Amino acid sequence: MNFSDIARKCVLKQPKYEAGKPIEYVAREFGLDPDNILKMASNENPFGPSPKAVEAVSKALGGLNYYPDGACFYLREKLSKKMGVSGDKLVFGNGSNEILELVAHVLCDAGDEVVTGRHSFVVYKLAALLMGAKCVEVEMPSLRYDFGRMLDAITPKTKIVFMANPNNPTGTTNTQDEVYSFVRSLPEHVVFCYDEAYREFQDPSDQVDVLPLIEEGRNVLTTRTFSKIYGLAGLRCGYAVCSPEFADCLNRVREPFNVNSLAQVGAMAALDDDAFVEYAREENKKGRVQFKNAFEKWGLEHIVEGGNFVMAKVGPKALEIFTELQKRGVIVRPNVGYGLPEWLRITIGKTDQNERCIEELGKLL
Ligand SMILES: *Cc1c(COP(=O)(O)O)cnc(C)c1O
Repeated sequence: MNFSDIARKCVLKQPKYEAGKPIEYVAREFGLDPDNILKMASNENPFGPSPKAVEAVSKALGGLNYYPDGACFYLREKLSKKMGVSGDKLVFGNGSNEILELVAHVLCDAGDEVVTGRHSFVVYKLAALLMGAKCVEVEMPSLRYDFGRMLDAITPKTKIVFMANPNNPTGTTNTQDEVYSFVRSLPEHVVFCYDEAYREFQDPSDQVDVLPLIEEGRNVLTTRTFSKIYGLAGLRCGYAVCSPEFADCLNRVREPFNVNSLAQVGAMAALDDDAFVEYAREENKKGRVQFKNAFEKWGLEHIVEGGNFVMAKVGPKALEIFTELQKRGVIVRPNVGYGLPEWLRITIGKTDQNERCIEELGKLL
């Protein structure tokens, strides 16, 4: 008997997530010195982890013989105070990626539908397909969410609408008015899953606050992460804010110890590191200017808006340029899988790293 006769059909059909290429792979493939390779492919923080988190994590290593606190008691308490949100509205995950999957786990049966944008984070689709649900990918003219079309795509079978703001991979952003009016026009049987992985890279005055929508009883869940601005992608910690009833369901489907003990300690310390967050945000803003100037000089269509990454339309040779850049030790991200084969996504690095990327890219254009 073939294993494919035994496995669930939707698992056999499940697409694989394509991650940014690790430095070691590229070093081996092209015979390069790993220390000289620049990874600008996965929206990681170029300034490293929050120093306070590193210190806290190293002090906690001796406790690894114990299971973590499955309830994330201290992290919950700290975040609850910082956000002004009651602790029963918080759910922690092994990265916000896990939360996105848990949301689908709680809401989707086979045959249900999930609505998102065509050029939006692929994990929404993966989460839906894994549950045997259908992912309806709505066109995004000018690479922006089209809320009218998204409303039109909703049917009685729709369970979730996913959106990211700032969006990945496009980097486009939406205002509080746009998000609020969309959420208020959603039918009651739909949950709005709002992904804020890059929220902290926006100026505080541009950050959308959906917490009042949760307070007013809307079916809204928002996800945030320690992976991006806090620089803790390797630690795996993210969280959701939603109603206590929804949180209770999410907690039933998660693993008992889904957030490891180092992640809990590191995340708590990172919450105290406002200086690091501000530094990363300001440096990232400077990097945006570097790339924007270069793209304008070259006459490339581009999106330099939210997040810690930029998008440029380099044309039909995007994949060749991607490979050539790797040979020169710069890893960026092609967007074929996102339906944008002519675009490259580049994570903003430190000033000198951006310069090097711009110089190498300039030679290839
Ligand atoms: C990076 C990213 C995340 C965060 O993933 P983690 O699992 O928290 O590391 C979530 N959503 C989007 C759109 C992202 O780009």
